[in-house]
Amino acid sequence: MSTPTNIASPKARAEALQAALTDKGLMPDGAVDAVIHTATEEWDPKNGARVVARAWVDPEFKKRLLEDATSACAELGYEGIQGEYIVALEDEPERHNVIVCTQCSCTAWPVLGLPPDWYKSPEYRARVAREPRKVLKEMGLVLAKDIAIRVWETSAETRYMVIPCRPEGTDGWNEEELAALVTREALIGIALANPA
Ligand code: FE
Repeated sequence: MSTPTNIASPKARAEALQAALTDKGLMPDGAVDAVIHTATEEWDPKNGARVVARAWVDPEFKKRLLEDATSACAELGYEGIQGEYIVALEDEPERHNVIVCTQCSCTAWPVLGLPPDWYKSPEYRARVAREPRKVLKEMGLVLAKDIAIRVWETSAETRYMVIPCRPEGTDGWNEEELAALVTREALIGIALANPA
């Protein structure tokens, strides 16, 4: 199949689409700005980090999170599109979880934010399910051989988030301090939660 060479830039195509939808009265005033605001200001992996920190300090919350992550995240105010069915995966010392969308780039937007570029890359999507230990090592996470790795296929229907193990030496830390240890990478499973 040949690649067409006369395709307009993504920006030009987006503007043409927006103009056509506006002409037809299908684009409410401010709709695009509202989405941009939500995507940049509200969908943030710091939200997922707060969920993890709460789970680390509150066993009852963690139980609810593992039973129904959608509701538990909503308790903290994190809900909405692409967060309608969130499933939390708890890491254990002998079992590590990592997520991928092999089809495209699905993440649980309200708690993980929009996907980073590496997550969308064909290489990550193609390789992490086949050779997770090698891919994680290349990304800077070396796991001992006796730690099992489970790879979860997140999709348009089910959006996973990883609850990493709470680092040792954090007894008595408050939720804000704990949340600062949890990065987007840890929520996806290519990094651990570590004291900085
Ligand atoms: Fe996807």
